[in-house]
Amino acid sequence: MGRPRGSSGKKRKRVMVKFITRKTEANGKITEPYRIMEEIIKTRRADLKDVKIGITWRLGWRPDADGRRFLGYCRKRGDLDRELDQWDFIILLNEDAWPTFSDKQKERLIFHELGHAQLSLDSNGQPKRDDRGRLICRIRKHDIEDFRDVVEIYGWKEDLQDLAERGIADASRPLLAEAEKKAAEKKTAEAKAADRSTQNAKRRTKDKGMAATVAAEEAKDED
Ligand SMILES: [Zn+2]
Repeated sequence: MGRPRGSSGKKRKRVMVKFITRKTEANGKITEPYRIMEEIIKTRRADLKDVKIGITWRLGWRPDADGRRFLGYCRKRGDLDRELDQWDFIILLNEDAWPTFSDKQKERLIFHELGHAQLSLDSNGQPKRDDRGRLICRIRKHDIEDFRDVVEIYGWKEDLQDLAERGIADASRPLLAEAEKKAAEKKTAEAKAADRSTQNAKRRTKDKGMAATVAAEEAKDED
């Protein structure tokens, strides 16, 4: 069945999003994406339990110039959006890709998208609220982001971002960095000294043993 045509006979513009209701109209069962999301929130993301997250199919998501196709996307709603409806976040799911995934892969995708959904916290680690009492939300960026060839050549364990943060922090407080360096050197020196004294003790024991053997042999000679 083709798309409906307008009065000019041309196909009408295709709408690329389709909101998923939490429950099916037919039997009132919770729809799969919500069921998966709610299970994740219950077991692993209790911080999101009061956050309103809607899920929407995204249709016809084509691969970009690099051949990457969006599988999902987590969108934070702005103040104007929230003025109009209840949703704090909307997760878009690629409607074409979804049926190609196993249960575990669907869970992984939703867990990933929920990873972007975060609450802003105050200095006491409590969620911040706006003057309407609503939770303030933010989007978390990926903490692992690289190219396949970089990972293949250099591995992904060395986190340059982390390294740079530490280096820059050290550079901005040279005295503290110096003190930390000295403390680390002292620790190494102490460890070496402890190691030396253990070795000396071993040697002494060995020498003593040797002396005893020599003494015993000398005593034997005297026999
Ligand atoms: Zn992502």
